[in-house]
Amino acid sequence: MIKRPAVPSPRKARLREYQSKRDFQNTPEPSGDPSAGPRSKSKLLYVIQKHQASHLHYDFRLEWCGVLVSWAVPKGPSLDPSVKRLAVQVEDHPLEYGDFEGVIPQGEYGGGTVLLWDRGTWTPEVPDVDAALQKGELKFSLSGQKLSGSWVLIRTKRNGAGRPQWLLIKHRDQFASTKDIEAEMPRSVTSAKLLAEIAREHHGDVARAAKGDPVGSRAR
Ligand code: MN
Repeated sequence: MIKRPAVPSPRKARLREYQSKRDFQNTPEPSGDPSAGPRSKSKLLYVIQKHQASHLHYDFRLEWCGVLVSWAVPKGPSLDPSVKRLAVQVEDHPLEYGDFEGVIPQGEYGGGTVLLWDRGTWTPEVPDVDAALQKGELKFSLSGQKLSGSWVLIRTKRNGAGRPQWLLIKHRDQFASTKDIEAEMPRSVTSAKLLAEIAREHHGDVARAAKGDPVGSRAR
């Protein structure tokens, strides 16, 4: 008898790349188990994870269609509307990833320390998010603990690896400023820890994690 694959749910299909890259026996990251299902909240989750992997970056994630659509932002967001920050789109992540802070073991995909840098909700400023993502221009507002107000993501081209490249830009509003938010507010919004402190707690590489903490910030 021929076994037919079940028709994948959109969420399941969208998490295939995420799951294929990771060995959940070896990484503490969430597996994106389809039985976990999307959250039944009316507000859409927004999260940024500071990730000291082979290169330091900030993973910017917006809940959409039961997953977290994700971009890696090497320099992190800027509050200054004149500054455009490169944001490379990466694979969709499960919603449960929005709770993850800890250490991905060396040798695993994305090995390094992850810090929950900001979290809150987002609101589209476009009538059709799918169309906006397709077109490559998504306007939205953030309501996080560190970031607020109006922002835009604009797709420019694909990089060498075929990943779509976007620019993350702050719109002019009362939340725009020239303050260096990454340097001034480096701590986790859930644990109040620095990268080095998270690495120590989870038996990661403390010295390597500390390279992602701002110079002059002191581990407690
Ligand atoms: Mn990452």
